Amino acid sequence: MVGQRSEIILENLSEVESEYKVNRQTKIEEIRQNPDVSVLIIGAGINGISTFRELALQGVDVLLVDRGDYCSGASAASSHMVHGGLRYLENAEFRLVREALYERNQLLRNAPHYVKPLPTTIPIFSWFSGLLNAPLKFLGLRDKPGERGALVIRIGLMFYDIFSRRNQVMPNHKFALRGKSLRQRPQLNADIVATATYYDAWMPYPERNCKELILDTQTLSNTAHALN
Ligand SMILES: Cc1cc2nc3c(=O)[nH]c(=O)nc-3n(C[C@H](O)[C@H](O)[C@H](O)COP(=O)(O)OP(=O)(O)OC[C@H]3O[C@@H](n4cnc5c(N)ncnc54)[C@H](O)[C@@H]3O)c2cc1C
Repeated sequence: MVGQRSEIILENLSEVESEYKVNRQTKIEEIRQNPDVSVLIIGAGINGISTFRELALQGVDVLLVDRGDYCSGASAASSHMVHGGLRYLENAEFRLVREALYERNQLLRNAPHYVKPLPTTIPIFSWFSGLLNAPLKFLGLRDKPGERGALVIRIGLMFYDIFSRRNQVMPNHKFALRGKSLRQRPQLNADIVATATYYDAWMPYPERNCKELILDTQTLSNTAHALN
C-alpha cells in the first residue's frame, strides 16, 4: 500500500513538474517573440517583488527576473523581524519609525497568514540610566549604545504607541514592577527593577509571502511576467 501511494505521489509530482516546464517554456517563447517591456527588474527579493507589484498594479508592463529562485537572497535569510525600529527613536528618526510602524501594521492587517504579533519583554535593571545618553544620542553627540533605565524605556515606548495609532492593530505597551514581573516570569534575573512588554511583529516564512505576491500580481495583471 505504502509503495503504491508513493508511486501515485511521484506520478503526480512528475505531472506538476512537466506542466510547470510547459508553462515556463510558453512564457519564455512569449517573451522572445515580444521582448519589449517598459520595465525590467533584475532580482526577485522583496524589493524587486514590491516594485514589480506596484508597477503592475498601475498598469505598467513589467518583467521580473532572478538568476536563482525567487526570494533566495537576503529576503529569505533575515532575522524574520517586522519591526517599527524602536531604537531609531534615540536618533530622532521619527518619520522613519512612524512609517515603519504604519507598514508593520498594514502587513499585520493585509497578511495575517504570514505576519504574526511578536510580544517582546525588556528586563530593566535601573530607573534612571541612559537619561544623559539619550539626549546626547538624540543631538548626535554620542553614537554608542548604553544601558537604558526604566524612564528612558517608558518614554520611548510611549512614542512607539503614539506613532502606531494611525492604523493600530496591537495593544499598547505594558509596564510591570519587579514583584509582578517575577511572578509572571519566575525565570527572570531577580536583579530587575521592572519589565516593559511591547508588541512588534515577525514573519516565519518570508519566502511564502514573496511567492504569493508574485503569483497574485500575475493573476491581477496580464502584462506582468516573472521568471526565475
Ligand atoms: C543578517 C540580516 C538580517 C536581517 N534581518 C532583517 C529583519 O529581521 N527584518 C527586516 O525587515 N530586514 C532584515 N534585514 C534586511 C533585509 O533582509 C533586506 O533589506 C532585504 O531582504 C533586501 O531585499 P532585496 O530584494 O534588496 O535583496 P535580496 O533579497 O538579496 O534579493 C536580491 C535578489 O537578486 C538576485 N540577483 C542578484 N544578482 C542578480 C543578477 N545579476 N541577475 C539576476 N538576479 C540577481 C538574487 O538571486 C536575489 O534573489 C536583514 C538583513 C541581513 C543581512
